[in-house]
Amino acid sequence: MNVYDSERMVETLEGQGYIQTDKAENADMILLNTCHIREKAADKIYSELGKFKGIKSANPNLKIGVAGCVAQAEGAEIIRRQPMVDLVVGPQSYHKLPQMEARIQTGARALDTDFPEEDKFNHLAARSKAKRGPTAFLTVQEGCDKFCAFCVVPYTRGSEVSRPADLVFSEACDLVDRGVREITLLGQNVNAYNGHRNGLSGLIWQLSEIKDLERIRFTTSHPNDMDAALIDAHGKCTKLMPYLHLPVQSGSNRILKMMNRKHTREGYFSVVDSIRDARPDLLLSSDFIVGFPGETDEDFSDTLDLVRQVGYGQAYSFKYSSRPGTPAAEKVGIDPILANERLQELQTLLTSQQHAVQASMVGREVSVLFEKKGRSDGQLIGKSEYMHAVHAVAPEHMLGQIIPVRITKNMTNSLTAEIIY
Ligand code: SAH
Ligand code: SF4
Repeated sequence: MNVYDSERMVETLEGQGYIQTDKAENADMILLNTCHIREKAADKIYSELGKFKGIKSANPNLKIGVAGCVAQAEGAEIIRRQPMVDLVVGPQSYHKLPQMEARIQTGARALDTDFPEEDKFNHLAARSKAKRGPTAFLTVQEGCDKFCAFCVVPYTRGSEVSRPADLVFSEACDLVDRGVREITLLGQNVNAYNGHRNGLSGLIWQLSEIKDLERIRFTTSHPNDMDAALIDAHGKCTKLMPYLHLPVQSGSNRILKMMNRKHTREGYFSVVDSIRDARPDLLLSSDFIVGFPGETDEDFSDTLDLVRQVGYGQAYSFKYSSRPGTPAAEKVGIDPILANERLQELQTLLTSQQHAVQASMVGREVSVLFEKKGRSDGQLIGKSEYMHAVHAVAPEHMLGQIIPVRITKNMTNSLTAEIIY
């Protein structure tokens, strides 16, 4: 979502005459778009800001801004800790960047971490008409009402809001006109989307009518919001790709309860079964947190057991990180050495599952949307419908196209393929 927000911030500032540069030394303004989900991510901001000291003293007119969830959570504290910062803007207020930019040009500071009544998407500068790559993110839902005990999202992103389906539809048409063939619909709880009378599945079916839009994905989903119509769409909508990120966090009912996840392991198994009934070849991915306060060996072995029973194509796992203001932050954490050991054990299991799934792809025919050139000559890289990174020797005109290939080899983090002519 930060990638999407950053694109929109760039487009908004283009109205003020800015163009994007990838060299901090060339910049008139540096805007850090930040993540607050875990402690490490938040700490990184201050060390990144420290790195700009030299550039700022070489160019005293340089303006520095902090956007995103750290800006939302820390507000004026950022300017107190790092007086070099001119601008602090939360994720719901970045449509106000033009006014804020004008203000900092007068030498003042600008801070906005409101949750305004108006919808920022209706106030953002129009999206640029420039040609773009074949894949794009599109935010359709923001915020979260679930309040998992460990998570800052409901506080930094606010309550659940969905963008109206017709506005999403016109943004999608515009992206497709500019060359996009695959859209990933984004939301902190994307399957709680209610901007279409038939929810997320209704939106997916509506978008599937855009002729040159060939692939649709969505992320991130909560197991409790996987309704029957959405599961059905996985079986019937050919443009909806057979890959689903469905975070479970833990395999222990005791921990799930303490996490306030509002589902059990059995509930998760039953959702997974329904999805696989609808689309047997679908690959699942998940997020896991190990070392949640109070997690015992038995709880952890329940997580390992859940992983073995479900079988994932890919997964992300994290050590629990205490976040100020969340209910779990009040509790005493587990021994960090034990948490590390558990994380490694879980990651070993998840990696072995990922490699087994990759190995099982060898010999299979899949289709790849080629996104860019590879490192070696004549090679293109893209994603299969199952989200595997695939590279193949292919002519350049295949960039941006979906091409049938046969997988020939399993590399560690990608697959090699040959084009089926
Ligand atoms: N809405 C999604 C998750 C969004 S946050 C869901 O409900 O699944 C992305 C991931 O970050 C979470 O799935 C979780 O695994 C991880 N995460 C969030 N808060 C965390 C914390 N305090 N410590 C460690 N990991 C955390
Ligand atoms: Fe955070 Fe996801 Fe839980 Fe919402 S549902 S509180 S975003 S982990």
